[in-house]
Amino acid sequence: MSAIDGSPEGMTEDCAECGRETPHDVSVQILTESSIAKNAEFSREPYRVSECRVCGVQTETRMNNQ
Ligand SMILES: [Zn+2]
Repeated sequence: MSAIDGSPEGMTEDCAECGRETPHDVSVQILTESSIAKNAEFSREPYRVSECRVCGVQTETRMNNQ
């Protein structure tokens, strides 16, 4: 009997909308955050973007977290 976890494609992550672990599509995108950062050199940052396959909500996580 195979478990639900260990999906061969994609990752399972906690989804705040679904309230449980769901399969996610994960990618890396360069997002402009000029409205957030005042310093121009921090205006574009790589973000890890995961999209819930169940409800479609996107979660962006800044990769240069400090
Ligand atoms: Zn979800």
